[in-house]
Amino acid sequence: MAQQTNTQKNEQQENCNQPTKKVVIIGAGLGGLAVAIALRKLGYEVQVYEKARDFRPVGGGLGLLPNGLNSLDAIEPGIVETIKQSACEVGTTFLKNTQGETLSQNADEAKSRLLEQLTDWGESLRSLVEAMPAEQIMENPIYDRLPVPSWSHGRVTLLGDAAHAMAPALAQGSNTTFEDAYELASCFSQASSIQQALAYYEKRRIFRIQLIQNCSALGEKRYYATKQEQEEINRQMQEQSSMSREEFQNWLQNYKPSYQLN
Ligand SMILES: Cc1cc2nc3c(=O)[nH]c(=O)nc-3n(C[C@H](O)[C@H](O)[C@H](O)COP(=O)(O)OP(=O)(O)OC[C@H]3O[C@@H](n4cnc5c(N)ncnc54)[C@H](O)[C@@H]3O)c2cc1C
Repeated sequence: MAQQTNTQKNEQQENCNQPTKKVVIIGAGLGGLAVAIALRKLGYEVQVYEKARDFRPVGGGLGLLPNGLNSLDAIEPGIVETIKQSACEVGTTFLKNTQGETLSQNADEAKSRLLEQLTDWGESLRSLVEAMPAEQIMENPIYDRLPVPSWSHGRVTLLGDAAHAMAPALAQGSNTTFEDAYELASCFSQASSIQQALAYYEKRRIFRIQLIQNCSALGEKRYYATKQEQEEINRQMQEQSSMSREEFQNWLQNYKPSYQLN
């Protein structure tokens, strides 16, 4: 009989232990909670650990797109209808601190800083900012990270911002996080061991996410580019994706899970 590899032995040990099916999730953010719900549906005992002691506003709305909504609906059928009923069109926005107070003093400073940065920009943009009440201006730093080739180590993996924080240009942070949550749970339901599930998960996710991260970073640059630079950025995006702009948007947003989790 051929000798067993360590991986095969580990897989067998995990299969023997399968009745417990315990999963620990660090972080009760959008991704942590979505995957917790998905895995509970599959019969896993899930424990979620969150460092924040209470709910606090972060001062931002969330734009949900078809790929994220399709993933949520595959995890919890009907939830998209509930979200649509409780969501609203953005009208006026206010900047609040973590105590829920509107930030007017800091907002004045933010407005002056913004106008200073816009010194060399066109008059129409400057007058738009000048006319805007300071408390409606939100100043937030943007952080992203370079794509990484692997998200898993042993029995541990990452999802959402922890795996692929991205610039907001394509509004894909939470939408791709919901895709991750669905795919991770679906890999658990199809694999015979944790290692296999995490290998499937990376195989399904990493290429798609790297492309979205790279195009988000390029898309972010487009906001600050001259017309000529924008054309160059568009060319780079097409080169990255090997797709026209329209094909890329279709590929991005038409992502649809193949079945519902239950
Ligand atoms: C202002 C703003 C606007 C945005 N708009 C959009 C948008 O329009 N569309 C879109 O798709 N995305 C948007 N995003 C991005 C989106 O919010 C994130 O991509 C998404 O929240 C990622 O989900 P996550 O679960 O990975 O991380 P998070 O939602 O950040 O959750 C992580 C959780 O882990 C907890 N945590 C961290 N470390 C530990 C620890 N050591 N122990 C325990 N708990 C820990 C944190 O407290 C947090 O609750 C926006 C983000 C911001 C800030």
